[in-house]
Amino acid sequence: MAKKENSEEIYNKARQVISGGVSRNTVFRMPYPNYANSASGCYITDIDGTVRTDFANNMAALIHGHSFPPIVDAVIEQLKKGTAYTLASEIEVAFATHLIERVPSFERIRFMNSGTEAVMAMIKASRAFTGRPKIAKAEGAYHGTYDFAEVSQMADPSNWGKEDQPSSVPLAHGTPPCVAKDVVIYPYNNIERTLNILDKHAEDIACVIVDPVPHRVGLVPGNHDFIEALYAWTRKNEALLVFDEVVTFRVNYGGAQENYSVKPDLTSLGKIIGGGFPVGAVAGRADVMQVFDPHEKNLLLPYSGTFSANPITMTAGYQAMKYFDSEAVQQLNSLADIAVKQIREAIKLAGVPFSVTGAGSMFRIHLRPDPPTTYREAYQDKEGKKLVNELLDYMYYKENTLMINTFSCMLSTVMTQKEIDQLTEGLFRAFKALK
Ligand code: PLP
Repeated sequence: MAKKENSEEIYNKARQVISGGVSRNTVFRMPYPNYANSASGCYITDIDGTVRTDFANNMAALIHGHSFPPIVDAVIEQLKKGTAYTLASEIEVAFATHLIERVPSFERIRFMNSGTEAVMAMIKASRAFTGRPKIAKAEGAYHGTYDFAEVSQMADPSNWGKEDQPSSVPLAHGTPPCVAKDVVIYPYNNIERTLNILDKHAEDIACVIVDPVPHRVGLVPGNHDFIEALYAWTRKNEALLVFDEVVTFRVNYGGAQENYSVKPDLTSLGKIIGGGFPVGAVAGRADVMQVFDPHEKNLLLPYSGTFSANPITMTAGYQAMKYFDSEAVQQLNSLADIAVKQIREAIKLAGVPFSVTGAGSMFRIHLRPDPPTTYREAYQDKEGKKLVNELLDYMYYKENTLMINTFSCMLSTVMTQKEIDQLTEGLFRAFKALK
């Protein structure tokens, strides 16, 4: 029998055919990524035979862990009936109805294939509805890879600009200059500075985009006053307030927006609503969503996608969300509260100057004594990244625990106190080893 290749051997071949050896930078680990063999519940087994507890959950996308039986069963039934039709499928209507009933700000919805696409469609819808060219986004916030959404992700602080006037710098080389011109950058959670900046572009801003718990900005929830100030500003200036809930939809039954008194005009969704399959969606006010309506005589936003609302994703997503009911949300969030409490105790006991931020079932550990409040404070310089990587490596190789590369965890409903204890004990040993 031919010798079974290990991850290192496969990776060496991968580098010959895939640019960089991987199609997702986030799966890369030094010196090579491990290749998954199978996964079930909260455990992943790689082809080299190591079993790891999964606190990454496919970058926050799996709310019930791996191979959740109700999803698997429903998807197998649908697979036998076909995977994608040119015709519409009823399951899309059932799933849309579920999501609209779930969240008060959702009056209409449209499905697509990724969070990046959802953010792009949301921005285009905002421009089409208002007839304005600009968007405003928080400094450093990640919203996927659409040109306009990825402005201000600079690795080099010398590009940041002044704190009260953050620079609009595109991420990818070769981005047309008009992109930076049409993206206004505001400092998250700072009302005075943000409103000053927005006022300068008041007549051109189509939407203010905000992630209510932006992970690159430290996984710090938006202050209520701040979100309300953005809402008031958009009402006064006839712009839209749009939430990127691609990640944060897991925070509450109705998404993180349930925690605020104001309703966004539009919301982008992705990750958990696909039940483990590629997905995106935009939902919101019926009059704004009308820009997508092909029956309109004057169609403002022609938009379609070959695999949008494909029946496999719709089936898996519907099951995932049905099982993520209020009770499941509460149970999961309580488990996360316990985890955060235990991690804070581990930090104290190990005597390391670290802190924890988060919301709902997500949390992030920071290598600073006080939790960050801004992107600049949450930013890891070269030395900080090195330490984070050492800790992640300890967890991965010594504790067989997979975390997200910002030193974050995204819990799933199949986790129990056992996995939380394992995580916090592992972290304690990692903290001690670092000292
Ligand atoms: N928006 C946010 C807040 C995200 O975190 C992500 C991905 O991590 C995206 C959008 C893009 O989603 P996708 O990776 O599905 O394109």
